[in-house]
Amino acid sequence: MTTAYRTTFLERIERTPKAKSYRFARPEGLTFAAGQYMLLDLGDRLLHPLSLSNGPHETGFIEFTKRMTGSPFCERLESLARGEEVGVKGPAGRFVHAPSGRTLVMVAGGIGITPLRSILADLANGKERAGSIILLYGNVNRDDIPFREELENIVLPDYRLVHVLSDTAGMEKAVYKGFINAGVISREVPQCTHADYMISGPPGMVEAIKKELASLNVAENRIRTDIFLGYD
Ligand SMILES: Cc1cc2nc3c(=O)[nH]c(=O)nc-3n(C[C@H](O)[C@H](O)[C@H](O)COP(=O)(O)OP(=O)(O)OC[C@H]3O[C@@H](n4cnc5c(N)ncnc54)[C@H](O)[C@@H]3O)c2cc1C
Repeated sequence: MTTAYRTTFLERIERTPKAKSYRFARPEGLTFAAGQYMLLDLGDRLLHPLSLSNGPHETGFIEFTKRMTGSPFCERLESLARGEEVGVKGPAGRFVHAPSGRTLVMVAGGIGITPLRSILADLANGKERAGSIILLYGNVNRDDIPFREELENIVLPDYRLVHVLSDTAGMEKAVYKGFINAGVISREVPQCTHADYMISGPPGMVEAIKKELASLNVAENRIRTDIFLGYD
């Protein structure tokens, strides 16, 4: 059952020139699993599902990270004053960590990183045993990578981040130029048909990655997706 809560706006944090995090007071009684989303209701029918980008252990707040598009929803987010009340509903969604003992390949397109950032933060917090994790992270360029420094420095027993960028200027290691495709996956994921995949991003990106995985004979039941409807 989803529950509706009232909460207050705390702060905004610029992650990149095109992505901002918005933190709200954590409503009393709200618990969530890393990877879930909530409906953020800013009034006047400005309502969107947004993944929680913080880990459940960060108890003082809940955080959403939005790609800024200039939409009325974004304008309303930008106008929020500290202490202003908004509604949230949820949590919902099954895009959560499900340990299997196999390598977990996380594939994120841009702002699709939000549920995966929550899961990685949760695993780094150490409540659950993290197995082998590879994050394939696709973005436009170095300045456009939400949570870049944090994800590059996250401490987990067996974790690797591979950037895939349209423009690789200013990047040093573990970087591919272009898009995440079968070539990148087969080079970076040992025994890629035996891994589990969590793909998160805009619909077109998720579909494209699924096709690449099909071309590598990865079984569909090894793939879970979080599709950010509302983006091309
Ligand atoms: C489970 C889930 C989690 C998401 N998590 C995030 C997140 O963490 N960060 C983030 O930036 N975005 C996330 N999104 C996408 C987000 O909900 C918005 O749809 C998207 O950000 C576009 O909103 P906008 O205000 O920028 O543009 P808008 O102008 O509001 O929308 C752009 C276009 O998409 C259409 N549209 C908007 N929302 C939807 C929808 N839900 N279904 C179908 N069509 C729609 C609109 O009618 C419009 O034509 C998530 C979506 C889903 C379903």
